[in-house]
Amino acid sequence: MSSKNNQLLNPALWTGNLFTGQWTAAKGGTLVVREPATGEVLAEVGQANAADVDSAINTAIAAQRGWAKVAPRERAAIFRRAAALLQEHFDELAMWVVRETGGIVAKGQLEIGEAIELFNMAAAMQHENQGIVLPSQAGRLSYAKRVPHGVVGVISPFNVPLVLSMRAVGPALAAGNAVLLKPDPQTPVSGGLIIASVLQAAGLPAGVLHVLPGGAEAGSVLCESPLVKMIAFTGSTAVGRMVAEAAGRHLKKVTVELGGKSPLLILDDADLDVAASNAAWGAFLHQGQICMASGRILVQESIAAEFTRCLVAKAAQLPVGNPATEQVALGPLISERQRDRTHAIIHDSIAAGAKLEAGGSYDRLFYQPTVLSNVKPGMRAYHEEVFGPCASLITFKTDDEAVAIANDTEYGLSAGIITADVGRAMRLGERIDSGMLHINDQTVNDECCNPFGGRGCSGNGGNVGGPTNWENFSQLRWVTVQSAAHPYPF
Ligand code: NAD
Repeated sequence: MSSKNNQLLNPALWTGNLFTGQWTAAKGGTLVVREPATGEVLAEVGQANAADVDSAINTAIAAQRGWAKVAPRERAAIFRRAAALLQEHFDELAMWVVRETGGIVAKGQLEIGEAIELFNMAAAMQHENQGIVLPSQAGRLSYAKRVPHGVVGVISPFNVPLVLSMRAVGPALAAGNAVLLKPDPQTPVSGGLIIASVLQAAGLPAGVLHVLPGGAEAGSVLCESPLVKMIAFTGSTAVGRMVAEAAGRHLKKVTVELGGKSPLLILDDADLDVAASNAAWGAFLHQGQICMASGRILVQESIAAEFTRCLVAKAAQLPVGNPATEQVALGPLISERQRDRTHAIIHDSIAAGAKLEAGGSYDRLFYQPTVLSNVKPGMRAYHEEVFGPCASLITFKTDDEAVAIANDTEYGLSAGIITADVGRAMRLGERIDSGMLHINDQTVNDECCNPFGGRGCSGNGGNVGGPTNWENFSQLRWVTVQSAAHPYPF
């Protein structure tokens, strides 16, 4: 992609470079970013190594002290300008996200729209209360004031890179922290360099935000450095476990938002066409590469045959192709690794007795929407997060059985229930162990003002977003003040 006069992004700036408040040559070399739909090279950005991350940490520590003192109105103005720039360059930025992630245009637009909201929320945070006045003995002022942690490391994945970076970068900066953002090496522009470009143009002081594209090496330096006081991680459960272990060793704060295998329950009184539409959306949106994807579709046995017919009909007519040039419902998977893993899970499950109702094949990175029925415990499609376009159908007879299957997983991110009987759904939902529950909706839902979080292997039982922003990105510091010191009995 080339930069034109009216464009915000200038790829020449990041070619071979990191963002450290300015565009700086990377000691770690160059990272080549390819468009998954075509294989074309989209960008060659700087790759951060350990030395790059160490030097960014030191610059960020110095910059954070100044940033914490900037007046709230000035900080709010920077965030509002960033939101306005995203709006002004909406189409240009959305197409970058489309081409770099392989997502459809509507998903690219959704990412820009959410990022605008997240900047506006960061602006609004500047005018919120910064603490509480506490009761205390007469003559003593006792209050608790929010203070930033210092330098916060943000590590984000490839699938929804802009939103998942921004949901931490926005509130972390708003609370007065400096941020070291390490986007996934497959999506460094959407996951970081767009944010750097926008905030630089909006006037963020140099050194407060660093964007350090790279892989495990750069990520683990952030986790292991005692100078980085918090890590906000979104990604797989396996890596999240390592991140949380390192954070534990260094006694640093950590949020981990991880994988899922979320159940979508279709009860026997559901409108089957609507239920199949929900299942198709939950399982196939962004090619299934969503943490909240409807990874297990639990269908009541009496309607299973008819529901399967409806879902297969939908899967068969969803177009798959290059989302930047064609009207499609599904784009490519992000990589050959992701495609091969998807294919292996699907075909290992078929070998173990699952029935292939639709899909099951691919062309390059384009995987056909797949429906598997007769999915049972012991099969990979029953237990493992596929992160590919696969609807795994499991049948149940009674509500008790539905709850037992829904909870038969190490994960606990989202759950959905489709039924005409909301009371029954609420009773069932109470018994499902998930961080999020959607009655009469599929499992993929996020509005940036909601607390987002999973249980079990989907997270550490905490939330990110909305009402949790201050709690996550600042600490309440208790302060007491007396007009003069009093003597004690000693
Ligand atoms: P991943 O864990 O492989 O990578 C995520 C990030 O961690 C990347 O930036 C990667 O470079 C970095 N990383 C890799 N090794 C590291 C290490 N040793 N130390 C520090 N950082 C390291 O994740 P993925 O497979 O690319 O992403 C998909 C996963 O993310 C899925 O499991 C999905 O469910 C999950 N996810 C969760 C949420 C959520 O909010 N719960 C949202 C999106 C994706």
